[in-house]
Amino acid sequence: MNNAQDLSYPEIREAVQKLCAQFPGAYWQSMDRDRSYPTEFVNALTQSGFLSVLIPEHYGGSGLGLAAAAAVLEEIHRSGGNGGACHAQMYTMGTLLRHGSVEQKEHFLPKIASGELRLQAFGVTEPTSGTDTTRITTFARREGDHYVVSGQKIWTSRAEHSDLLVLLVRTQRRDEAARPSKGLSVLLVDMRDVLGNGLTIRPIRTMLNHGTTELFFDEMRVPAGSLIGEEGEGFKYILDGMNAERVLIASECIGDGRFFIDRAAAYAGERSVFDRPIGLNQGIQFPIARSYIELEAAAGMVDKAAALFDEGKSCGSEANMAKLLASEASWKAADVCLQTHGGFGFAEEYDIERKFRETRLYQVAPISTNLILSHVATHVLGLPKSF
Ligand SMILES: Cc1cc2nc3c(=O)[nH]c(=O)nc-3n(C[C@H](O)[C@H](O)[C@H](O)COP(=O)(O)OP(=O)(O)OC[C@H]3O[C@@H](n4cnc5c(N)ncnc54)[C@H](O)[C@@H]3O)c2cc1C
Repeated sequence: MNNAQDLSYPEIREAVQKLCAQFPGAYWQSMDRDRSYPTEFVNALTQSGFLSVLIPEHYGGSGLGLAAAAAVLEEIHRSGGNGGACHAQMYTMGTLLRHGSVEQKEHFLPKIASGELRLQAFGVTEPTSGTDTTRITTFARREGDHYVVSGQKIWTSRAEHSDLLVLLVRTQRRDEAARPSKGLSVLLVDMRDVLGNGLTIRPIRTMLNHGTTELFFDEMRVPAGSLIGEEGEGFKYILDGMNAERVLIASECIGDGRFFIDRAAAYAGERSVFDRPIGLNQGIQFPIARSYIELEAAAGMVDKAAALFDEGKSCGSEANMAKLLASEASWKAADVCLQTHGGFGFAEEYDIERKFRETRLYQVAPISTNLILSHVATHVLGLPKSF
């Protein structure tokens, strides 16, 4: 199995591995059991500067690219941990960096880099729109120096543990906009000002510990200065961020896959049944080997997508393909690892069942496999659009 030296950013990887060693399986098991937010882990990651790798040095970050951020998240997941508590800061960062005003960046970025403010919530999905983002109905109407927001979001993860929320709203109704993708805007909401005063957060208990919630906006007033970029152009900004998100999530899947394969190979070598290590049997070896091959192939696509992103080139298809391949490879590795462990795979203390539940998410969120297939079919292969 690869070690950190064979991969990009070996120093970052080694440092992240050291940090993660302070948060072993028992830590994540207790978070999972109680559905708690891993505050100590997020604080340690923030203090060590790993969460602000994408923030320019001028604002207190390291000014590195997406490939470096991907290395951080991959190593967290490979260690048996989970970046879901704090990865949103990385993928929403592009929206603020590329489209935020100088004042917004000066105001927020140094505080995000230092950990004084958390930017961990990203509100796009709504109960009735599903994947069809242009059909969101949460509406922000302009009233003097404010926007007044009404509507609802679902699956807004980490909202209870974040100060800031990147919120996609309509500022023009879909049927009045020039195109369905127009008339959408992005607001950077300081939730500390509106919680209980227009904003209600309701947690949703899920299969994995993800701190996800529903948000209700009831005439929530936010300053007009919360608008990012131009009014009506928000869909474009969010799409930019989504490519980064797909690459970063794909790298978490690669980390998960490496975790499962490391664990499966180690256990297959140790566990003796019928007087021989189970790993002597090709029925055990081959699925692990196949899973490793598939994971390495997926990792190659993730690297390619990250490199294109960092070169400022178009990477929508590669980011989508990377996410599909990596999420399927990690799920396959999870299944192989569970099977290799037999009954012990189901015991909480082995971490396999937790990681198994966690890695399943990525075939649904942040975008489901079918939607990626549809993107490739219509945008890459030129097949007719079905919707
Ligand atoms: C734990 C968790 C955390 C999340 N965190 C966030 C977050 O922080 N912020 C946020 O905005 N969202 C978040 N999401 C939402 C997530 O991005 C969506 O669940 C995901 O995009 C799928 O949307 P949906 O659930 O509405 O599925 P739907 O759009 O209702 O789709 C349901 C199924 O139908 C399939 N489908 C739909 N249309 C078609 C079609 N035309 N052809 C073929 N198949 C189709 C889909 O692939 C999917 O499998 C989170 C979700 C979960 C579960």
